[in-house]
This record gives sequence, structure tokens and C-alpha cells, in this order.
Amino acid sequence: MKYFCPSTIAEYFEVIQTFKDRQFTLLSGGTDLVPRYENKQPLPMHLIDIKKLEGLKGIVERDNEIEIGSLTSIEDLKKSRVIQKYFTALWMAATEFAGVQIRHRATIGGNICNASPAGDTLPPLYALNAKLKVISQHSQRLVPISEFITGPGEVDLKSGEILESVILYKQPYQSTFYKLGLRSAMAIAVVNFSVTYKLNGRTFSYLTVTAGAVAPTIVYLKTLTDAIVNNTKILDGNFEQIDQDIAPITDIRATSTYRQKALINTLRYTLNSIISGNYV
Ligand SMILES: Cc1cc2nc3c(=O)[nH]c(=O)nc-3n(C[C@H](O)[C@H](O)[C@H](O)COP(=O)(O)OP(=O)(O)OC[C@H]3O[C@@H](n4cnc5c(N)ncnc54)[C@H](O)[C@@H]3O)c2cc1C
Repeated sequence: MKYFCPSTIAEYFEVIQTFKDRQFTLLSGGTDLVPRYENKQPLPMHLIDIKKLEGLKGIVERDNEIEIGSLTSIEDLKKSRVIQKYFTALWMAATEFAGVQIRHRATIGGNICNASPAGDTLPPLYALNAKLKVISQHSQRLVPISEFITGPGEVDLKSGEILESVILYKQPYQSTFYKLGLRSAMAIAVVNFSVTYKLNGRTFSYLTVTAGAVAPTIVYLKTLTDAIVNNTKILDGNFEQIDQDIAPITDIRATSTYRQKALINTLRYTLNSIISGNYV
């Protein structure tokens, strides 16, 4: 294996031009990749360490939007007052993410490109309609995150492309995040979800719920939320509409039935708490 560590984007494109096809892997924080190599997954022919790339790190606030560099660490998201104020769900996901050492290494770009169905930043990014700036040597494109992630571990990155940043638009909605793990720290989610909402008295006038770890990719619980908007009675029901949008699996962390019941119960509790003003 050959290791490269470019420090500018120009240098990065120079390096990858020397490879005939995409026989290289990008390494940012390494918190997903390194454990895989330690578990005997074969090393790539070429490993390009991108964490020193200039200009891909940090959070920039503009009038109506925020741009988060793909190399921004989860710890930096957690420390950001801008993220906390405008994108509370993403900030909460960062605060519940792993432990402090991992948060310092792990990046938002790595969490997105790893495309785990249980990735913690993903439900908030879907609910907040994040757009991803993907660049290649001579072009750039903006892709909604729901189109960028095409399956578990699969993303729409063409040869030579790199995820540069994440763009979030300031919205007139509040948002929150919930994560259920098998323990309270350093746990991958059994279920996680994000709620973006606007209240009109004691009803939701706007509601989006996105859930993780209950389908191959993050899902919008559209059937349920359409039923709940302007109709709080549904909140006392058993949320059977949820089955239209989820397809949980059984794995080492939980059975499919447990995931379905856990999602229903924790979501019902969260929505009722928001409506009654008891949500903290
Ligand atoms: C102990 C432990 C606890 C963890 N806890 C959590 C948790 O609570 N919640 C959670 O969601 N995850 C958790 N993870 C998983 C991991 O930390 C995250 O997914 C993290 O965000 C990955 O980021 P990274 O920078 O380390 O990615 P890397 O491992 O460097 O890369 C991951 C993938 O993304 C690609 N990639 C990275 N950056 C880019 C880019 N800019 N452009 C294109 N491709 C890119 C890489 O090629 C690779 O395929 C945990 C991992 C460990 C080891």
C-alpha cells in the first residue's frame, strides 16, 4: 500500500491523476476505516489521507445558510453555538456521538460517506434538507443528502470526486434528536431519529421525522407525519402508519420487532413532550 497526504486540493487532484482508475481510498479521521483494516479487511492499493487538506474544515455562517467543511470534527460541531442555535438536532447528535476521543477524530464528511443506516448525524441532516457540495478537478455539484446516500455504505461519488462541504439553510422550524443505544455512551444507535417542527398552539403545523437504523438508509416517516399534522389525536394512537416507511432488521444489537417498538414508543413520547411544552 502507498500512503499520500496532500495538503491542498490542487495537490490532491495531482495525486489522484496518477492513478488509472479509482483504486484509492480517502482517509479522514479513520474512525470507520482503521477498525475495518484492524479486522483484516484488505488494505487499499493507495490510501490518501485528506485530513490536512486546507479549506475543508470549519463552519462558516452566512445570512441564510451555514457551510460545514467535510473535515470538521464532530467535537467542533458540538462546540459550535451557531449549530446549537439554528440546527439543534445536529448539535444534539454531535453531543450524543461516541466519546470525546472519537469525536475529536471523527468528521462529518466521514459520517456521511460511511453511509451507515445508524450514523448519528444523518437523521438531522436529512430532516434539515442538507445539500452536499461535491467537487472534482473541474466541476462541482450540489446534491441533496437523500440522493447522495444510495444504500448502506454506498454514496454517489464519481471517480475523482470528494465531498467538500455540507450546506444547511436556516429555517423557521425547531428541531430535536433522539438516540437509543444499548448503553449511554460509545454506543451505535439501535434507533435514532430527528424531528423538525413548528407548533401552532398544541398542534404541529409542520412536522418532519427522519429515522435511522430502521431501514437500509435513513427514512422519512412521511405517512405518519402527514397524519399527525393538524391532528393531535393520532399522538394517542399506536402509530401503525410507521410500518409504511420502515423495514427494520434483526442484528447483533436488536431484533426488528424491538427496533419498531422502540421507535414508536420513543417517538410518541418525544412528540407528546413537545406538544405539552415539557421537552428539554
Ligand atoms: C469507538 C467508536 C465509536 C463510534 N461511535 C459512533 C457514534 O456514536 N455515532 C456514529 O454515527 N458513528 C460512530 N462511530 C463511527 C465513526 O466514528 C463515524 O462514522 C465517523 O463520523 C467517521 O468519520 P471519519 O472522519 O473517522 O471517517 P473515515 O473512517 O476516515 O472514513 C469513512 C468513510 O468516508 C470516506 N470519506 C471520508 N471523508 C470523505 C470526504 N471528505 N469525501 C469523500 N469520502 C470521504 C472514507 O473514504 C471512508 O469510506 C464510532 C466509531 C468508533 C470506532
